[in-house]
Amino acid sequence: MLTAPQFSPAALQIVRARIVRAAERAGRDPGSIRLLAVSKQQPAALVRAAAAAGQTEFGENYVQEGIDKVTALADVPGLVWHFIGQLQGNKTRDVAERFDWVHTVDRERIAWRLSAQRPHDAAPLQVLLQVRLADEPGKAGVTPAQVPALAAAVAALPRLRLRGLMCIPPPAADQDAQRRPFRQLRELMESLGAAGYSLDTLSMGMSDDLEAAVLEGATIVRVGTAIFGRRPG
Ligand SMILES: *Cc1c(COP(=O)(O)O)cnc(C)c1O
Repeated sequence: MLTAPQFSPAALQIVRARIVRAAERAGRDPGSIRLLAVSKQQPAALVRAAAAAGQTEFGENYVQEGIDKVTALADVPGLVWHFIGQLQGNKTRDVAERFDWVHTVDRERIAWRLSAQRPHDAAPLQVLLQVRLADEPGKAGVTPAQVPALAAAVAALPRLRLRGLMCIPPPAADQDAQRRPFRQLRELMESLGAAGYSLDTLSMGMSDDLEAAVLEGATIVRVGTAIFGRRPG
């Protein structure tokens, strides 16, 4: 018999404690790091249970699935929805209308559409640029060399607010290796800061490497498996 997946408040507490411990090790204020619970492929009931346990920010990868959960949880006040999946040009409207953040902008055309489609009575859409740091052909994201041009284009759009950068490095063997791409992303954001952009968000680190990301300055860690368990899909 299939049992419905259960939410474990203890798992959420363990992840929060990991963030606090890593922040202390880094000499950072744990309050400067936000936990994004990645709920892709998990049922809305599990998201509701996590919200009841105090979790407010949720990340979704697939547009229709995400919209369904935003709708199912519309009665819960104060939730913040982040789109963290690959975005097709024909799906931008739903994201512009229903999400608060997008972490995966890697093309000017997508940014332009999101800005044009963001409702005028909503706050600007909070945007991160996805950066591909390793040489991984076929992976999403702009290269570091392409970041300044895309940042300039996004910053000029009226309904978007450029907040920072995001990356999904390939798995690495140990913490030193995990830290390398995260350090590169931080340095890239610092160079944008020196060029006059005021950015405050580094979205990096997942279940297996959140400590390395916090040590390198992550302000949002995106955690799925360690909170919700293995994805059913
Ligand atoms: C699935 C996903 C995560 C969460 O990964 P876990 O290893 O389950 O913590 C984080 N970020 C992105 C972009 C994802 O697609």
